[in-house]
Amino acid sequence: MPVKVWEQLLDILFPSVCLECGVYLENSLSRENLLCEKCFGDIFIFKNAFHLPGGNRFYAVGSYTSRPLQKLIHHLKYGGHQNAMPTIERIIEVYLDIFSDELQKQTILIPIPLHKNRLRKRGFNQSLLIAKVLSKKLKLPISGELLSRPKNTRRQTEIKNNKGREQNVANCFRVNRKLDLKGSILLVDDVYTTGATINEALKTLRRAGMRDISVFVLAKAG
Ligand SMILES: [Zn+2]
Repeated sequence: MPVKVWEQLLDILFPSVCLECGVYLENSLSRENLLCEKCFGDIFIFKNAFHLPGGNRFYAVGSYTSRPLQKLIHHLKYGGHQNAMPTIERIIEVYLDIFSDELQKQTILIPIPLHKNRLRKRGFNQSLLIAKVLSKKLKLPISGELLSRPKNTRRQTEIKNNKGREQNVANCFRVNRKLDLKGSILLVDDVYTTGATINEALKTLRRAGMRDISVFVLAKAG
């Protein structure tokens, strides 16, 4: 069966609808696209970069309060559906219109690792998927070996206060000291809420002597 006919048949059997508003997404492109154009356009994408309390440059693509973005991330992380990635890639592309020159100056991308149990359960690391999009667009290498997460922790979303979240992730990361890394690091994660996980990763990297570290997240709370 020709691909086109097959796609049309799939569309009839399993119509794709927008993850946010439920409107029917016409044409075969919808297989790769989980939001209608209106909901896609409703996502608040930042036009400025930030600084973290420790002074690190902080790049956040969109606001986590934008429901279509939040739904996409939940679909990916908790639903385990990697088909959210093409839509996420399009959102990142919009952001890179402004920030690609600046981000291209980084040397290496480091995704926030998952503990092996969590990775086994989910089947993928969402931060690595985001880093792969950046790697493709910015032509930067990814190091999945520099930072590891030997200590298993509870889900941060289960813990409501900041102190508890900090304690939960304390000393959960390790740096592979066999790798001698020069240059600037772009640490990549999916969501920044209280920042406890990212701060812990920054602390671990700093302790290992790395100084030039910026942070990139897909969504930032607020
Ligand atoms: Zn929609």
